[in-house]
Amino acid sequence: YHPATHSISYTTLSRFPPVKLLPPSARKRILVTGGGGFVGSHLVDRLMLLGHEVTVLDNFFTGSKTNVAHWVGHPNFELCRHDVVEPFMIECDQIYHLACPASPPHYQFNAVKTIKTSFMGTLNMLGLAKRTKARFLITSTSEVYGDPEVHPQNEEYWGNVNPIGPRACYDEGKRVAETLTYGFHRQDGVDVRVARIFNTFGPRMNPYDGRVVSNFIIQALKGEDMTVYGDGAQTRSFQYIHDLVDGLIALMNADETRPVNIGSPDEFTILDFARAVRDIVERVKREDGVEVGRKCEIIHGPMPTDDPQKRRPDTTRAREKLGWEPRWTVAMGVEEMVRYYMAKMAEGSL
Ligand code: NAD
Ligand code: UDP
Repeated sequence: YHPATHSISYTTLSRFPPVKLLPPSARKRILVTGGGGFVGSHLVDRLMLLGHEVTVLDNFFTGSKTNVAHWVGHPNFELCRHDVVEPFMIECDQIYHLACPASPPHYQFNAVKTIKTSFMGTLNMLGLAKRTKARFLITSTSEVYGDPEVHPQNEEYWGNVNPIGPRACYDEGKRVAETLTYGFHRQDGVDVRVARIFNTFGPRMNPYDGRVVSNFIIQALKGEDMTVYGDGAQTRSFQYIHDLVDGLIALMNADETRPVNIGSPDEFTILDFARAVRDIVERVKREDGVEVGRKCEIIHGPMPTDDPQKRRPDTTRAREKLGWEPRWTVAMGVEEMVRYYMAKMAEGSL
């Protein structure tokens, strides 16, 4: 690596995945907050492979260094332990602002910190975008629609959120983060993008973070009872991580400044989803010659307060403005994730 010319020798880099060699004029300096998390680390992989310079900011509350360890030492990559509640100075061209816990048990663990992260973290990153004139993308959420009265949810719907319930720190945090984003856009001309992400799953999801996909797969793999909350009639639509990363990069590089839903239309009741996961786990075990063991029972637990009853995105805007559509089916994605957790179990790290 020659800092003066910024050209990279292939031999020095042989221990890394092969990144594209972009001319300096095409190479962007990209900041990814929350880049040590599930979504962030997949986004970082893709941006690195595309040949950009990537800096990750993360306080490792729910993410980990392991998720991006394969890039540490690469000249295009930098990893900083930093809490976005504090200001941060850097020069950059694009900011993907993801830093925020996303699973209900994690974001409810310290509700005040969650809302501080959403408000102060977003304020700091928008301030940075204003000074550097970087394009700013925030990962908002389908939770801004709350327990929706409109189905499927399109971006014009204002939502139905309980402002004082246990989910409010996350939902209202993201809503105020969107408000801040459009405040900086209108007042200061910051170039903004807002992705409203629907339930996403895939490898590197923390297996014990309490979200439904990881819970069900781990339970089915271990032959434990599968815990459906309530009667399981509530619905979610699950998208696979690679589709989300496609959508985030497409949105960052498109002209659309309005919010854009990024999610899958594959809607399941949670009860049907539990059965589907159980079937896939059994099939994969059989195919891999692993003993299937006892058939997991589906048991019911209490319904969490304010749990949305139904959720499915209207993705017309993403299709029309970004040319984006999900390509992975839920079955394909769950199978990938099952194999990922099985490999972790085999090596004893899960
Ligand atoms: P995650 O918990 O795996 O990742 C969040 C990352 O942010 C972690 O690495 C965590 O350590 C970091 N972080 C949290 N607070 C921070 C702080 N104060 N300062 C610095 N870093 C901090 O969650 P994820 O699923 O990867 O979600 C990433 C983003 O996408 C979040 O903004 C989330 O709201 C959004 N989102 C995710 C989903 C989903 O289904 N995964 C759905 C909607 C929205
Ligand atoms: N859920 C469940 N069993 C679990 C974990 C979650 O039945 O072990 C339900 C939860 O009540 C919700 C849905 O699955 O209705 C999705 O939950 P998750 O925490 O994954 O995401 P969110 O509620 O934020 O969409």
